[in-house]
Amino acid sequence: MDDKVIIFLDADGVVNNHDILFTLPDKLSEKFNAQERHPPLSPIAVGYLNKLCLDNPNIRIVFSSTWRTSPQDEITACFKNAHKRLCAASKVRNIPYAIQFDDTTPESWRTPINPDFSAPRGLEIDKWLEIYASQDQKYIIIDDDSDFFAWHMPCFIQTHGFNGITLDDYFNLCDLLKTLEPTLQLRLDLKPRS
Ligand SMILES: [Mg+2]
Repeated sequence: MDDKVIIFLDADGVVNNHDILFTLPDKLSEKFNAQERHPPLSPIAVGYLNKLCLDNPNIRIVFSSTWRTSPQDEITACFKNAHKRLCAASKVRNIPYAIQFDDTTPESWRTPINPDFSAPRGLEIDKWLEIYASQDQKYIIIDDDSDFFAWHMPCFIQTHGFNGITLDDYFNLCDLLKTLEPTLQLRLDLKPRS
């Protein structure tokens, strides 16, 4: 059995920075937003995710956000920039960076791209599992939306769209990791074990 734990990770409302945007006057908010190709990620939300990955080195991230049409190195740079901001703000320079995308194949770092993004995200996650995962793959979904199916709910952590990952969410993620069971037996695409 693969002991890897996949985290299907959304961006908007999960790891990006609404706090700074809403505290700046509009024009300055635009300026802040224009620093990177994507809205800057939250050092706090990325910090919680990084801590989770540091303490659980078997975690691999699969990006489920609409941002996933961008190249992987561009997305990785967004996470690393947020990590640098956390190091700068906390004046602790040597916080290890531990967020790793899944590298089973060059495309497995993200869920399959549905060109019009009209399908429920749960379908895209099931598609990824069908392509890349064994039936006993453990996974967690972190998203501020809830377009998932009943079989995803035991491993779903819903963030508040304005806050992203908070301390409460981080504790819930830690608890979930301790008790996580594969939920694929409920998947519609279940195939007989070989
Ligand atoms: Mg979102």
